[in-house]
Amino acid sequence: MQIQVQILAPVFNSIYHQLNTVLPKGTEIMVSSHRYENRLDTQQLMAMLMKGVDCIVVPTDKVHYPIHDEVSVVAVLANETDMLNPLLLLGLNQEKAQLFSQLESDLRIGYGRVAIAGFGPGNPELLTIKTQRLIEEADIIFHDDLLDDAYLSAYKAEKIYVGKRKGKHSAHQGTINALLYKAVLEGKKVLRLKGGDPLIFGRGGEEYHYLRQRLVDVEIVPGITSALAAAADAVVPLTSRGTSTSVAFTLGHDALYNQLPKADTLVFYMGASQQKSWARRLVKEGWPGNTPVVCVRNASLPDKEIRRYTLDELLTSKTVLPAPALLLVGQSAGQNGYLPAKKWLYTGLDLKYFKEEGSVVHNPLTELQPLTLDEKSTRMLQNIKAFDRIVFASPYAVHHFIQALFSLGLDTRVLYRNELTSIGVSTSEALMQYGLNVKPASGGNSWQGILEALKEAKVSNESVLLPCSDKGLAKLPKGIESIGCHPYELKLYKSVLPDKAVRHNLEDFYGVVFTSPASVHHFFQLYGTIPAELVLRVRGNYTQKVVEEYISQLGLSNQVLVCKDASEVEV
Ligand code: SAH
Repeated sequence: MQIQVQILAPVFNSIYHQLNTVLPKGTEIMVSSHRYENRLDTQQLMAMLMKGVDCIVVPTDKVHYPIHDEVSVVAVLANETDMLNPLLLLGLNQEKAQLFSQLESDLRIGYGRVAIAGFGPGNPELLTIKTQRLIEEADIIFHDDLLDDAYLSAYKAEKIYVGKRKGKHSAHQGTINALLYKAVLEGKKVLRLKGGDPLIFGRGGEEYHYLRQRLVDVEIVPGITSALAAAADAVVPLTSRGTSTSVAFTLGHDALYNQLPKADTLVFYMGASQQKSWARRLVKEGWPGNTPVVCVRNASLPDKEIRRYTLDELLTSKTVLPAPALLLVGQSAGQNGYLPAKKWLYTGLDLKYFKEEGSVVHNPLTELQPLTLDEKSTRMLQNIKAFDRIVFASPYAVHHFIQALFSLGLDTRVLYRNELTSIGVSTSEALMQYGLNVKPASGGNSWQGILEALKEAKVSNESVLLPCSDKGLAKLPKGIESIGCHPYELKLYKSVLPDKAVRHNLEDFYGVVFTSPASVHHFFQLYGTIPAELVLRVRGNYTQKVVEEYISQLGLSNQVLVCKDASEVEV
């Protein structure tokens, strides 16, 4: 049998060789070669294939897409002269070309896969579960600005910054496409992460097509576009019965030439530096000068900023918020209906313990770092069976204790002789994560309660290990002595003020939540003092004591509310 192959590419020999080795015995390959300078359109391809040519070999950049339905890609072959434009082996469906279907050199066999996903407006809490999974699974992540690098650093993937922020080194779209494809050729699981949604001012479509033309499997995963986060932060209903029946997301980077869409509410992306020019343009085009405008910077993030104006006020305002910011314009951005919710500043580590009513800004003021194990601590852990009981006072104590065991090559099997006591529900939950089914001790979250519980259980003359932070556990060790036991503190971690802790404008808040003495110390280290009208909400007696000391030392009179039944989160 004879097969006619038309090669429309410069690398003749290697292709001939590749094809020859994979055809059934006795098949003869007849090649003709021709170089095309222009792209072939579908009609030209069809014409060649109908006129007796069984297959065509052509680089990906020399065909127009989409390719005709009746043409199939038999294989994708390496192109030695241009690896970014592999060669397509094309044939008619159901024809002789299908003899090639076992082509081992088909690049697709070794391809990785790509997802182009939206990170959302910046706050990791607004990630979709799907994008979160992709972040966990990726081998390599190509990411832009406007997303949380620190968040990504916890994941194993190699991270490549390909952002284009004004003034910073910027990666060309062509370079980004090429980097993505190279990673696919290496068989990697590639994640292209974009701020907001990939298909809104994100050029996700271009990357998608570039990769699809090379027959790469690409999935697009939506993200929350920043306009939605800004609208939520500033409580601007983008559509609103009676005032706005349409909304337009529009490019704002050039107020002179960009088109002005017709809609009741306008949202300008990339327009921070053009805010005044937009106000001028809108007024010129007939928008009333008293139309409300809201500018939101860093939407969804702890350091977000919101400014409210009318078009006239914006025109005369001295300063405007810098990028990244969105401008929302229209009647529904009006202040009239705007009733701010109670807003709390939550300084604890884990937002799942936030129990207050209202909205929350999460800015952890503690970061836990493991301490290096000294000789004494190492000995305690290696000889853990010498202790009768281990008391875990917080989930953090549990995690650091288990990690310390791991670091010595040990695991929970060494605990078979120890009684375990857990203070609080969340501590028990943490223990459960390691397969240790320990119910919370009766007596609640306070150390007095725990002592009562131990007393009631007639615990005495025991050696009790207390995994804790470098600050120790305040009165618990003494209390343990008072019931005739022998406490041993095992200091495993310390709490520091995180480098990236943000200083907020406290006037914007209703109150602050403190979950540990460390968060209180770090708060006053950062702010120095606190406005008198803010309510202070504290977890645990020890935290309360520390807060009250600051209040009296600084001569303040803030209201301090203690959460009696809230989860104990003492670090
Ligand atoms: N794909 C993104 C938009 C990219 S264009 C999305 O869907 O949101 C970049 C512009 O988005 C910025 O200039 C700014 O106008 C806006 N933007 C992105 N994140 C933002 C945020 N957290 N707060 C305010 N504006 C933001």
